[in-house]
Amino acid sequence: MNIILIGPPGAGKGTQAATLVANRNMVQLSTGDMLRAARTSGTKMGKMVAGVMDRGELVTDEIVIGLIEEQLTTADAEGGFIFDGFPRTLAQADALSDLLAKVGQKLDTVIQMSVNDDALVKRITGRFTCGNCGEGYHEEFKKPAVENTCDKCGETGTFKKRADDNEESLKTRLMAYYKDTSPLIGYYYAKGQLQQVDGLGTIDGVGAEIAKAMDNA
Ligand code: AMP
Repeated sequence: MNIILIGPPGAGKGTQAATLVANRNMVQLSTGDMLRAARTSGTKMGKMVAGVMDRGELVTDEIVIGLIEEQLTTADAEGGFIFDGFPRTLAQADALSDLLAKVGQKLDTVIQMSVNDDALVKRITGRFTCGNCGEGYHEEFKKPAVENTCDKCGETGTFKKRADDNEESLKTRLMAYYKDTSPLIGYYYAKGQLQQVDGLGTIDGVGAEIAKAMDNA
């Protein structure tokens, strides 16, 4: 099953994708993660997108479509793909549809995760991850059991925050979401592929809603 998780930054797309990867053998394709990996390894493209990402603006369609194409043609996804943070523009949505057709696959459903803007600020400014294994945490909603130690891999002192998880960049990211990405909700609705879940519940509660939406697809 191939699904898109769509929603503003902080809606919980990455968190829910991680659960689907663990439980359903799906492969998460997060263009944000791929771009951050390119920055960390210092590639030419990584250097090119660094400033754009830190400001919270969108990188070009060409770059992210290229990243997705590479994964779709090489990754082995037994349980299907979860598109997380892609597509973010109508051009990317059209490209995804062409790419899926090219590899003999289709999109099964698009799940919109809605969260109000006040909740997003709180979620984003409080989140951090383990620099070693990537496990996600939150200062209020998901604290590590032992301070400064990752529950998952046991490393200490590796917690880090994303450079764009600050109020200033978040404003730009939200603006980009409403301007460039939210039209995709109408686009997929018109195609009969959109389902909506309330993203404000607990991690498990939202996960159950997503599971229901996938069963309905
Ligand atoms: P994310 O991790 O999905 O919040 O993405 C972090 C940043 O990476 C975004 O603010 C953009 O600068 C860039 N980015 C990620 N995915 C895309 C995309 N599909 N299109 C354009 N820019 C993207």
